[in-house]
Amino acid sequence: MDHMTREQRHRCMSHIRSKNTSPEWRVRKTVFAMGFRYRLHDKRLPGKPDLVFPRLKKVIFIHGCFWHRHSCQANRPLPETNRAFWEEKFRRNQERDRQVLADLWKAGWQTQVIWECETRDSALLQQKLSDFLSGSLPSAVNYDLIEQHALYSLVAEPED
Ligand SMILES: [Zn+2]
Repeated sequence: MDHMTREQRHRCMSHIRSKNTSPEWRVRKTVFAMGFRYRLHDKRLPGKPDLVFPRLKKVIFIHGCFWHRHSCQANRPLPETNRAFWEEKFRRNQERDRQVLADLWKAGWQTQVIWECETRDSALLQQKLSDFLSGSLPSAVNYDLIEQHALYSLVAEPED
């Protein structure tokens, strides 16, 4: 039995549609299908990571390319008006992202950033998530994070 009116159903469907196409949703769906379970937006951790895997001590952030200044946006001009405002805003966003990842790393968490543009290729996305979640090394860390690599070389265990 279906008690929804046409209008209600329409609203409901459009809500589902937009949710199902968001970058975060694509990541969650893929990770879930791979058999991993996670917590969402854990406020107790720096930066409130989008997906948290407590037993693996791993977290995933899904970043919008525009707000977090992914390299794919390099050729996209900044808004003409209030240019200084935008430059400052983006600089702070990037600085905060770096700080959050560094704080998590120091607390023993491995981090992965999935960019919005990377969620459009489902095969690539699955590979990247699998490398990160199944791998014992932080192979998929954000490579901008030189501090992470420096820290990692200090704590890395010798291979068997
Ligand atoms: Zn991008």
